[in-house]
Amino acid sequence: MLFRQLFDHESSTYTYLLADEDTHEALLIDPVLEQVDRDLGIVSQLGLTLVTVLDTHVHADHITAASALRDRTGARTVAGRAGAPCADRLVDPGDLVTVGTLALRVLPTPGHTDDSVSYLLVDPRDHGRPGDRVFTGDALLIRAAGRTDFQNGDAGTLYDSITQQLFTLPDGTLVYPAHDYLGRTVTTVAEERRWNVRIAGKSRDEFVRVMNALNLPVPARIDEAVPANRSCGRAPAPVQG
Ligand code: FE
Repeated sequence: MLFRQLFDHESSTYTYLLADEDTHEALLIDPVLEQVDRDLGIVSQLGLTLVTVLDTHVHADHITAASALRDRTGARTVAGRAGAPCADRLVDPGDLVTVGTLALRVLPTPGHTDDSVSYLLVDPRDHGRPGDRVFTGDALLIRAAGRTDFQNGDAGTLYDSITQQLFTLPDGTLVYPAHDYLGRTVTTVAEERRWNVRIAGKSRDEFVRVMNALNLPVPARIDEAVPANRSCGRAPAPVQG
């Protein structure tokens, strides 16, 4: 498998490129609109064909490149069932998204937003056995968890998602989040179980208290990004009158 982690400085977003090295088919997870040329440049230099674009949730801090990439490459777009209704494929928990011999299983990880999903790499030739990495969006971040104070976020739901879906994966599973603001790039399930300051060793009630006391500023682009992302990254039609 070919794997690249890409970064958008303005929103501190990670985009992931995965490709089957035999068929040269590729997928992107959480691409950023402003980085379309960069991403397509890498895809083309590496001799890949972009066939699938996945979003982990409707983002509030940047606009997804899903529609732009679909327009330019014909790639199909994928999102969780409760997410952007414009996606070509709306996936449910347990569904598999395959690209060549690569397969990602959809894990339900709501709480940051009600549509949040994680994508677990699995081996379809071995009864869907978990692979070595999971893409957690904003559900589980490095030493943190995505805020739960907008887009139907719910801290208790996020606690259940992290403890029941993500912390039950094998210890060494690599956790690739959608963001990091401190330059960290990857972590593991065992590391977060032990060191995640928001959830390690905390009860559900304690986690809810921590999350509800964060008092974070509203994301600068939320009013623009959420409606745009509900339409897969297309600017909403201007309001008349
Ligand atoms: Fe988010």
